Amino acid sequence: MKKIGFIGLGIMGKPMSKNLLKAGYELIVYDLNESSINELVQAGAEAGTSPKDVASKSEVIITMLPNSPHVKEVVLGTNGVVEGAKKGSIVIDMSSIAPLVSREVGSKLEEKGIRFMDAPVSGGEPKAIDGTLSIMVGAKEADFEECLPILKAMGASVVLCGDVGAGNVTKLANQIIVAVNIAAMSEALVLATKAGVEPERVYQAIRGGLAGSAVLDAKAPLVMDRKFDPGFRIDLHIKDLNNVLETGHGVGVPLPLSASVMEMMQALKVDGHGEKDHGSLVLFYEKLANIIVQK
Ligand code: NAD
Repeated sequence: MKKIGFIGLGIMGKPMSKNLLKAGYELIVYDLNESSINELVQAGAEAGTSPKDVASKSEVIITMLPNSPHVKEVVLGTNGVVEGAKKGSIVIDMSSIAPLVSREVGSKLEEKGIRFMDAPVSGGEPKAIDGTLSIMVGAKEADFEECLPILKAMGASVVLCGDVGAGNVTKLANQIIVAVNIAAMSEALVLATKAGVEPERVYQAIRGGLAGSAVLDAKAPLVMDRKFDPGFRIDLHIKDLNNVLETGHGVGVPLPLSASVMEMMQALKVDGHGEKDHGSLVLFYEKLANIIVQK
């Protein structure tokens, strides 16, 4: 079995790396936060001292970091993965970042004989813990096949979407659909409530029809119970919508709905809700209409 390096032990990276240990992989880990490294050492991993150190001791290096600048710094920066990785080794970036940056990192690594794939995930912390994430991969087919057993130790669904960058393009598509769905649900439930109909009855009446969706089933009950703990934070969705808009403008695609939801999320952030779940988009509409959606 390949020895794996894992860099970025946050909400997602911690449970994902623990699942690799459970699957029997030898693991060397690194994070800026020493207590996260110690937690993984307790679980059976080896401690690395830098991305370079981790890369020099592994055949596969996984990164799970917040955004594009962090990935560039960890992979291409001083003491970065590129300085330690052996020729033929493979870097799998599982962070949600801008696809153009995935392609840039991939081509810089390729110049050094290091392979690269982007493999962002959806599913959040509960599915990271259960090892049932959905993983969207951008890679050469042979690299994908080689790494499939590793990815399957963390995910229930692992789909090759295309060449390097395709994983993050798919993730952006996912984030548009989720954001716009939550906004539509919020607009509809605020209207129904103010027009005098109980939102729970509206939800029960429409969930089996064309308006029903995974987003509606996941978020409407939480909204009506006033549960806004994350989940997926507004701040992270803003980060993804930034990447959506930048990518759209870069390739020449106007994105009017994404831009609107982005501004709603910006308003919520200014109001101090950035740390709340993205289901709290309803708070934006509630403030406009001066009504609360609850059971
Ligand atoms: P997080 O902020 O909890 O974790 C990021 C980790 O990276 C932290 O432990 C941080 O210390 C570490 N880090 C940052 N810079 C570093 C550096 N230079 N060197 C080493 N370590 C560094 O974030 P998360 O929630 O685990 O998310 C990670 C990625 O997964 C993000 O791109 C996010 O959008 C995506 N994602 C998150 C969720 C979710 O529900 N949380 C769901 C799907 C996808």
